[in-house]
Amino acid sequence: MPRAFITGITGQDGQHLAQFLHDQGYDVYGMVKGQSNPRIAAVLEEMPFIETVPGDLADLPSLVKAIEVSQPDEVYNLGAISFVAMSFNQAELTANITGLGVLRMLEAVRMVGGAENNPIRFYQASSSEMFGKVRETPQTEATPFHPRSPYGCAKVFGHDIVVNYRESYDMFACSGILFNHEGPRRGIEFVTRKVTNAVARIKLGLQQEIVLGNLDSKRDWGYAGDYVKAMWMMLQADEPDDYVIATGQTHSIEDLVERAFAEVGIEDWRPYVRQDPKFFRPAEVDLLIGDPSKAKRELGWEPDVSFPELVSMMVRNDLEIEAKKAGIAL
Ligand code: GDP
Repeated sequence: MPRAFITGITGQDGQHLAQFLHDQGYDVYGMVKGQSNPRIAAVLEEMPFIETVPGDLADLPSLVKAIEVSQPDEVYNLGAISFVAMSFNQAELTANITGLGVLRMLEAVRMVGGAENNPIRFYQASSSEMFGKVRETPQTEATPFHPRSPYGCAKVFGHDIVVNYRESYDMFACSGILFNHEGPRRGIEFVTRKVTNAVARIKLGLQQEIVLGNLDSKRDWGYAGDYVKAMWMMLQADEPDDYVIATGQTHSIEDLVERAFAEVGIEDWRPYVRQDPKFFRPAEVDLLIGDPSKAKRELGWEPDVSFPELVSMMVRNDLEIEAKKAGIAL
């Protein structure tokens, strides 16, 4: 059986990818940080097939050991400090984990795997946040980066060091420049899940309003389940390369809010939404829209789930969760 090693296994993408690779017949190893990681128990309950391996993106020797123990054919580096808003407050930590963590992971793979004798294939989770103050629309693999947050800056370093290791050491290393991707496993701090969860609670009478920041920024939102498949497809290609993974469509936060409320039959959402400066960011990414044509042409990848389907899936999921928690029959 092929073996896959995943960092960030307790995150949204780590969970989707673990399930996908398991279904493909992989042995799945997940790196877990800390002695009592709060999220791993819930993940293992759902996916008991995951073999956990201790390791920390801040600690190169632990990564070398983790790769030695799991002997993977494929490494997926999804671990990161991933919340843009938090990266402004913890900029150095973000640079260390989200940026330098990539270098450490590549180095561990290079030390253990060796390029010629055991070419471990490496996937790096690059991000559309690297485009930031966008230089052109839509964004492609050739669009220059202009990150707008410590998170975006750290991801640019990670992206560049993957290209550098590929060119310097002939490693099979790929970056997926993934645009925002969401789903029922998304953390509540991200705007999609924050909105769908609040809409469900408002519908059930458990909450009065939702407090948001900037409603004008636009994102190219896809479904995480579609996007992890693209990660895997990149590592099955003949040559390593970088790919934009996106839907090619963009929506404002206001569109998201409107559609989520409409899903529960509320047409006028304005009385339920308040804005608070505390949710605005020191620098904003105004508009993201990706051009996924290279991934379609070279990998045969296309997203299945549309934006309305995604919002509907997330609202229905939150309705079920919140109704169950509150003991309300739907
Ligand atoms: P990001 O694209 O990785 O930063 O994903 P987020 O889901 O955190 O944010 C997407 C956009 O939603 C950004 O432009 C935010 O400024 C905007 N936004 C507006 N209100 C909120 C809010 O209350 N929480 C979050 N997380 N984002 C918000």
